[in-house]
Amino acid sequence: MVQHKKIIIVGAGPAGIGLGILLKKLGFTSYLILEGDEIGSSFRRWPREMRFITPSFTGQGFGALDLNAVTPHTSPAFTFRKEHLNGDDYADYLELLTEHFELTVKEHTRVTAVSKKEHLFTVETESERWTCEALFWATGEFQFPQVTGIEGAHHGLHVGQVDAYEALAKDHYVVIGGGESGADAAFHLARYGNQVTVVTEKSMKDKVVDPSLTLSPYTYERMEVAMQSGRVSFKENRKVTKIEHHHGGYDIELDNGEVIQTTGKPILATGFASGARQIASLFEWQENGKPLLTEEADESTITEGLFLTGPSVQHRSAVFCFIYKFRARYAAIVKQLFRRWGYDLKEEVIAEYEDNQMLLEDLACCEVNCEC
Ligand SMILES: Cc1cc2nc3c(=O)[nH]c(=O)nc-3n(C[C@H](O)[C@H](O)[C@H](O)COP(=O)(O)OP(=O)(O)OC[C@H]3O[C@@H](n4cnc5c(N)ncnc54)[C@H](O)[C@@H]3O)c2cc1C
Repeated sequence: MVQHKKIIIVGAGPAGIGLGILLKKLGFTSYLILEGDEIGSSFRRWPREMRFITPSFTGQGFGALDLNAVTPHTSPAFTFRKEHLNGDDYADYLELLTEHFELTVKEHTRVTAVSKKEHLFTVETESERWTCEALFWATGEFQFPQVTGIEGAHHGLHVGQVDAYEALAKDHYVVIGGGESGADAAFHLARYGNQVTVVTEKSMKDKVVDPSLTLSPYTYERMEVAMQSGRVSFKENRKVTKIEHHHGGYDIELDNGEVIQTTGKPILATGFASGARQIASLFEWQENGKPLLTEEADESTITEGLFLTGPSVQHRSAVFCFIYKFRARYAAIVKQLFRRWGYDLKEEVIAEYEDNQMLLEDLACCEVNCEC
């Protein structure tokens, strides 16, 4: 039997739950959130030691909504009394929101195929078939580890697959990648007494303002602690090209011909791919691996009615990879869609989002600069 909703949201992470709450606040009921696993499942899969790098703080009421909130008048900092939440805390926050706003979420329902005929999408799961008029794709990135250009990469362990750094045997580890997740891995491995070599394509001293393009202050502070331990060293401006596994050890080859030998499994902190790859043919793709979207509403440029929300949204230099960034687009998407459908918008709800910096329509203001 084919069932119908006007809007289907795929993914119950912060992007999907945040959009669902906005629809609910607008009094819109013909929607459904389909989640392949459980609400907040990416956060439940984080390495046990990993914390949010974006701090939480109860600044609401003064126009400074908690950076990690997905709806006004809530604050993970208030709920958990923590500045840097762990993955389980945040998944609990999303579950609390789902209950509080009585959202319609179907868990353990993975979308396996999407097609569009005339104005209707068909969304297939393993056991059901749904149709909808608009599809919000909110499948994130964390569950899609990415490794490119390294021969023998399958010998490594991607950070997205680490349960706990504490559970790894004491050893010398080579961490491949010096971004946020590589620095996080290096910090925890060193904390547990391991020797760590971080191979990074960049220099750790590069200073860029946008936190989407550089390490966060929280991580710089942690790296200082790690370096003081004397257990972390860097190979900067270098790439790993090959990993060979033999006699219980690893040869890790760099692009200058140098080989590092270790017994610890190489840790791949090489990034994550867009979950939109699951329905790749419904998007045009940019060279940076992100889908091409309209600037007005993050809509696919080739499939009308398909909207992307979450960390894969990128317009030129505006990178929406943090919650405080992509939450500012929920209202922009819904405004455009409702206008197209000729629906009235509850102005007080849109004003509430605007008052909390949760309505970003003009991307010209997204250049991230800093004067001191
Ligand atoms: C290592 C790492 C650390 C990060 N730290 C921070 C941070 O400190 N602060 C911050 O703001 N951001 C951080 N981010 C950015 C991060 O991407 C977002 O915080 C957040 O997880 C994105 O939310 P989302 O809802 O788009 O995706 P997710 O939270 O990944 O949710 C996507 C959901 O979609 C489901 N799904 C996927 N495919 C399907 C399918 N086919 N059918 C049905 N369901 C499906 C998944 O099960 C999942 O529950 C970090 C990212 C990474 C990778």
